[in-house]
Amino acid sequence: MKVNVNEDACIGCGACAAICPDVFEINDEGLSTTIVDTVSEDLKSDVQEAIESCPTGAIAEK
Ligand code: SF4
Repeated sequence: MKVNVNEDACIGCGACAAICPDVFEINDEGLSTTIVDTVSEDLKSDVQEAIESCPTGAIAEK
């Protein structure tokens, strides 16, 4: 599984980084960015939760 954040849609609320800090972090611009290329099996459910929790729908599988 690979995941992508659309920085044009992200509002930097921090929800994804709070739910799954092993995959998402807030960068210097205050927007979410992914810190891994491929999501490991054990983090998939957290990433799915982050996708569902993002208020702007900025996170998607790619
Ligand atoms: S949950 Fe969505 S809007 Fe909030 S920081 Fe993450 S990607 Fe951005």
